[in-house]
Amino acid sequence: MNRQQIPGPLGEHQVFRALNKLPIRYRGRKTGNTHACEGSDVFPDVRLLWTRCGIDVPANGAYLPDPPHEDAITCPACRKAEGLADTDSN
Ligand SMILES: [Zn+2]
Repeated sequence: MNRQQIPGPLGEHQVFRALNKLPIRYRGRKTGNTHACEGSDVFPDVRLLWTRCGIDVPANGAYLPDPPHEDAITCPACRKAEGLADTDSN
């Protein structure tokens, strides 16, 4: 695993990109792209999630992939933010 894994939640206002060691994903409703997400517990009972490309994830919109599968990120901007190769480059 060459990506940075941030276990979370670690506390208020700390940003995490995985829960239970699983990456957070969001599938866009308009484009169908799979985005990488990060989030923060801004209050003990308020968790905000957004995509790496800056989309606000709607409530209950994010999901965790079933292990061992990691849902492939198809959003080009999220792939770039995650340091992944462009899907078109191969
Ligand atoms: Zn994205």
